[in-house]
Amino acid sequence: MKYFSTRNSSYKVSAAEAIVKGLAPDGGLFVPESVPQVSLEDIKALCEMDYRGRAVDIMSRYLEEFDTEELWSYVNAAYGDNFDDAAIAPMHFTDDNTGVLELWHGPTCAFKDMALQMLPHLLTASLKKCGEKRKVCILVATSGDTGKAALEGFADVEGTKILVFYPHNGVSDVQKLQMMTQSGSNVGVSAVYGNFDDAQTGVKNIFADKELAERLSARGWFLSSANSINWGRLLPQIVYYFSAYCDFVNSGRIKMGGVLDFAVPTGNFGNILACWYAKKMGLPVGRLICASNENNVLTDFFACGEYNKNRPFRCTISPSMDILVSSNLERLLYSISGDDVFVASCMKSLNTVGSYRVSEEIKSVIAENFFGGFCTDEETKELIRRIYEGKGYLMDTHTAVACKVVEDYRRVNPTAPTVIVSTASPFKFCDSVLSALGEDSSAPGTELIEKLSETCGLKVPYPLFGLDKREKRFEGVCEKEKMTKTVEGFLA
Ligand SMILES: *Cc1c(COP(=O)(O)O)cnc(C)c1O
Repeated sequence: MKYFSTRNSSYKVSAAEAIVKGLAPDGGLFVPESVPQVSLEDIKALCEMDYRGRAVDIMSRYLEEFDTEELWSYVNAAYGDNFDDAAIAPMHFTDDNTGVLELWHGPTCAFKDMALQMLPHLLTASLKKCGEKRKVCILVATSGDTGKAALEGFADVEGTKILVFYPHNGVSDVQKLQMMTQSGSNVGVSAVYGNFDDAQTGVKNIFADKELAERLSARGWFLSSANSINWGRLLPQIVYYFSAYCDFVNSGRIKMGGVLDFAVPTGNFGNILACWYAKKMGLPVGRLICASNENNVLTDFFACGEYNKNRPFRCTISPSMDILVSSNLERLLYSISGDDVFVASCMKSLNTVGSYRVSEEIKSVIAENFFGGFCTDEETKELIRRIYEGKGYLMDTHTAVACKVVEDYRRVNPTAPTVIVSTASPFKFCDSVLSALGEDSSAPGTELIEKLSETCGLKVPYPLFGLDKREKRFEGVCEKEKMTKTVEGFLA
């Protein structure tokens, strides 16, 4: 199966090339030329498998040049005892209609591990398949969780280096410390003065800089991305939607073939886009509930058909969703319209005037499939406390945003079986979680980890244990105009 750019469907590459390149040369995102179909019989077979088997089955449908044996070796390496739950992506049912899909049992306590424990295997194999002799430097802009998960995935992977940029004041104490203390001889981390969009724009500009690419190439390096624009990031995320469906069926709460809704706390639109692909493949998904925080560009887009990033950027207590440009929406636009010229013009308009509008036709397809909603910080905290007191279940701020939007959704669809996609451990955002529970949270985030553990009687996840005692290796901050220089220095 070939992949092509959302902005030019005649530019076709193999899966391995798509993974190596990350972004198409025209700035578009790679999409598969067709979506493999999965029958209910296939899903029944998946129900009998563990997470690893499900991952091999789903991923192999998109990766023709990879044989099953090699996929098994990657899956075994990616989803093993680096996860603290044997189910890898366990489901916690809070009632007969609601399951919380916990995607944060990996080495950095956030859902990004689901993809970023796999990507280095896919990428290094793809490099070999493409005959690439140069070494690859992974460049990441992060709103917090991607950076750490990518560092953890690529640390000491041969033939690679990884450099992560994060917004100076845009990540939590715990996230910052996790990145500053990263181990590995091939890793680098720098803060950037600005917000996440500044960091992401800086990285996109670096990728588009042809002269820089030539200078680096002369030294034996090329740049690639581990952001969710890379197909190798997205693909492993499709797996857990199938897995969650199987777990719902296996629990007896829905019948095979019954419809299941998914609520996804959304930022860059990668996670929920994977759900869209699962639905396109034939998974019986009803609504995709797209939950935003006060940076509610997507809520407005779903409501009125205009995507408009011209608005104040808000720093919220769900910082991994503080995003005004949801890059992966481009893939949805292509998937619905099938029109590369249209997508290219939307993205051009987004770049120049900061907005674009879709047709009534596209708007109605979105309305049939998606429910958009958002939630304020106050509501997020109220919900964390109410669910903890009512059900004894503690969730992080991002998951709580999704949970709140599900409550809104259930006013129109009260009995729909729904999966709430849980994207981070509550320990990762312990200051906001403690404050939601009415506890004092004035100490630095890392000191609060222990306090949250005592308050709620929950064990501190291993990856966050003793974080404040580790050596800080990376404390630099750079101007957003100097990011290119930082890259050249890192690869000098
Ligand atoms: C990255 C992240 C999100 C947003 O996911 P997208 O794929 O960017 O939409 C939500 N919650 C947490 C905890 C995250 O780390």
